[in-house]
Amino acid sequence: MRVFKEPNLSNGWKCPICGTDKEGEIVLVGVIYTEDGNNMEAEQIHLSCINLLYDKPSGVLYQRVV
Ligand SMILES: [Zn+2]
Repeated sequence: MRVFKEPNLSNGWKCPICGTDKEGEIVLVGVIYTEDGNNMEAEQIHLSCINLLYDKPSGVLYQRVV
């Protein structure tokens, strides 16, 4: 994942995990089912809000976002 120093706040963004627009490093995470050719929608998420779990049997990394 590519890390950016600050979020892009131009469209009223709020982190989907913490619900804030606080400053800090963010990563762009691809949104599943939005693939269109080589393009995919991506969501900015604070790096510090990410706490992934590894489902080893299925080979999937995930985190529940409420
Ligand atoms: Zn956050």
